[in-house]
Amino acid sequence: MNSVAHQRCFNHALREAVARCPDCTRFFCRECVTEHDDRVLCTACLKRKRSTDPAKRRALLGLKRIAQLTMGILMAWFFFFLVGRTLMELPESFHEGTLWKVPWLERR
Ligand SMILES: [Zn+2]
Ligand SMILES: [Zn+2]
Repeated sequence: MNSVAHQRCFNHALREAVARCPDCTRFFCRECVTEHDDRVLCTACLKRKRSTDPAKRRALLGLKRIAQLTMGILMAWFFFFLVGRTLMELPESFHEGTLWKVPWLERR
C-alpha cells in the first residue's frame, strides 16, 4: 500500500507528506496544502481553481440571463399565441354582437 507516511512533499523533498491532493494526486506536506470547499488541495491546484472559478461563474451567470431572456420571450410569444388562437376560435356571432342573444328565447 502506498502510505502517505512514506511519501515526501512534492515541493519539499526533505519533508514528509501528510496529505495527498485529490486533483493532481501528488503528496504534500502540511504547509503545501490548503482546505478549500471541505477538500484538501495543494496550492497549485487551489491557484488554478481560483483563477478559473470566477470566469466559470460569470459564464454561468451569462447563460442564466440568456435562458431567462429566452424564457421571457417564449412566455410572451405563447401568451399572444393563445390570445390570437382564442380570438380565432370565437364564433362569428361574437364579432357580430349577437352572441348574447339567446335564440331559443327569441323564438317563443
Ligand atoms: Zn494539486
Ligand atoms: Zn511542502
